[in-house]
Amino acid sequence: MHVKTKDTVIVISGKDKGKKGKISASFPKLNRVMVEGVNVVTKHQKARNAMTPGGIIHKEMPIDASNVMLVCPKCGKATRVAHKVDKTQNDSGKSVRTMVRVCKKCGAEID
Ligand SMILES: [Zn+2]
Repeated sequence: MHVKTKDTVIVISGKDKGKKGKISASFPKLNRVMVEGVNVVTKHQKARNAMTPGGIIHKEMPIDASNVMLVCPKCGKATRVAHKVDKTQNDSGKSVRTMVRVCKKCGAEID
């Protein structure tokens, strides 16, 4: 996915279009993300016992990752990300290739 947990994203479609939030959980297999304050549903819950009283609860539901755009932490703009291969050395001095995400607007590395 182009986004991951703790990224700040902006919603680009659906009922929460334009909302900004932080990804609180991601589900790569489902291509879905949970964003703080986004896609909050209201549930009416019955009281089960004294410890869990009934009432209206608000719960965030995951949304499709394609409905969000990453907000670049460097330039603050909603952006598409490019992936580039970076060569780094691991502990034993062997060079390893890692993928880093790059902001298409300002060119900053995001990871
Ligand atoms: Zn940027």
